[in-house]
Amino acid sequence: MFTFTPIVFAVVVSTAINIFVTVVSWRRKKARYGLYFALGMTGVTFWTLMSALDYAATPLNLKILFATLEGWGYMSAHPFFAMFAMSFAGYDWLLEKKWVKAFFIFVPVTNILWVTTNSWHGLVWREFIQKADNVVVFVHGTAYGWIYASSNLLSLIIIASLALTSFKGSIFSRKQGRILLASILFTEGTNIAYNLSVGMEGVDWTSVAFSATGALFLWALYGRKFLDIIPIAREKLIDSLSDGMIVLDMQNRIVDVNLPAARMVGSLPEKLLGRNMDTFIPLAQALSGQPSEREMRTELEIGGAERRYYDILISPLFEGQTSVIGRLVIFRDITDRKRIQDELQKIAITDSLTGLFNRRHFFDLGEKEFAKSTRYNRSLSVILLDIDFFKGINDTYGHFVGDQVLTQVGFLFHKNGREADLTARYGGEEFIILLPETDCASAMLVAERLRKLIEESLIQIGNNLIRFTASFGVAAIDGANAETFDQLVSQADQALYEAKRVGRNRVACYREE
Ligand code: GH3
Ligand code: MG
Ligand code: MG
Repeated sequence: MFTFTPIVFAVVVSTAINIFVTVVSWRRKKARYGLYFALGMTGVTFWTLMSALDYAATPLNLKILFATLEGWGYMSAHPFFAMFAMSFAGYDWLLEKKWVKAFFIFVPVTNILWVTTNSWHGLVWREFIQKADNVVVFVHGTAYGWIYASSNLLSLIIIASLALTSFKGSIFSRKQGRILLASILFTEGTNIAYNLSVGMEGVDWTSVAFSATGALFLWALYGRKFLDIIPIAREKLIDSLSDGMIVLDMQNRIVDVNLPAARMVGSLPEKLLGRNMDTFIPLAQALSGQPSEREMRTELEIGGAERRYYDILISPLFEGQTSVIGRLVIFRDITDRKRIQDELQKIAITDSLTGLFNRRHFFDLGEKEFAKSTRYNRSLSVILLDIDFFKGINDTYGHFVGDQVLTQVGFLFHKNGREADLTARYGGEEFIILLPETDCASAMLVAERLRKLIEESLIQIGNNLIRFTASFGVAAIDGANAETFDQLVSQADQALYEAKRVGRNRVACYREE
């Protein structure tokens, strides 16, 4: 019933290789696209095994049975390899689509049905011609055309995906992609030869050729020890980083991009690969006019309402010692740090009770304004105010009410201050205002207006209405000859002292004696 010919021997050897590849591939099923590869290899192994039995069997009906089972193996393996190749090329998102899934089920199911029902219609194999060495030529019928076309479509998907990875993939997967592409082209060549009836008539060497392909696949994917496992691990690592990473070639095309970087622009890595960096607007902004051989660091803001900040490091990628082959760009999200910095910065310059600037910040800004005003010969005034008998308020109503009075004054300043004026809490119950482009007379008017506002304001504590007043000292650079900002403030202080001395709740202006 069975006879052992040299062809059978070749197919048995390739089956043995395929079994080995299948076993190893199942062990790696957890790797990305590993499961597709393992399932595909399982189908191929079944195919070669049935093929060996087909060539060994002597009765025709047994040969046909094994040929049918061969078809099952081949036809179910094919879509898995197509899915493997797509996943390898980074098109996992496409595999999620319903119509893609439907296509990958439809093709093998129809083909398996055609082959399995051949005894009824004879449309796949219409005739069987006995040749020497127990070889039977299966003469193809019309349905074979459909099987041939759909299989070629799957092969095309495989070739296109691998070609894409070979030329456009990440620098890590390109090399793998090329080995895979070369080995699949070898198998496809064998299959074309069979269909063109080149070589031994009736003998399909495709399954034998595929054992070489499978072994090469295995080697490219998992073999060569670290060389290729590391790239897979590294790719995962790079995707799991919180930092965005982009590799550009010398033509500014995106050669590699990780998930966080793609997410920054609401895209996916595989959609950005091969594109010009201009599509990646933040990158184009960061790089515009920068020489490629210099390392540089910069900061960038991205987004509208949800604005985020990035610290960007751009380094040249060298091949050998001197030739630059591209650039590596790393984006670090520093939004949280930036927000804390801003918050700290704000805390550092404001008075917590009144929300006005604090004394230190007032002096920082005041000194700058003073320098500007003296340089351009412009007027500048300072108003210093001190609440009258504040100690009395504290003593009568308590410290808390005292605080409320201070808050009330801060609020009056917020509400009635001019845009250009700078208001700050000078100390305890003293406040200070800087008025750029304002001469002594105008500053006196501002002070007088504030004096009235304070005099008229009320604070209700239980049934008590608290009133309070303040005294004002004004100094301007046109009215006196202050040489420093400190001097100007001290002149305002002297005027304030004068206002207190002559009876409080009034405005006094400093004048050179
Ligand atoms: P004068 O009219 O001469 O200015 O009299 P005064 O009582 O306002 O002046 P004095 O400098 O004697 O008193 C200021 C008081 O302000 C003393 C201090 O306890 C109080 N003080 C300083 N800072 C604060 C604060 O943040 N909150 C409250 N409630 N009181 C404060
Ligand atoms: Mg005081
Ligand atoms: Mg006081």
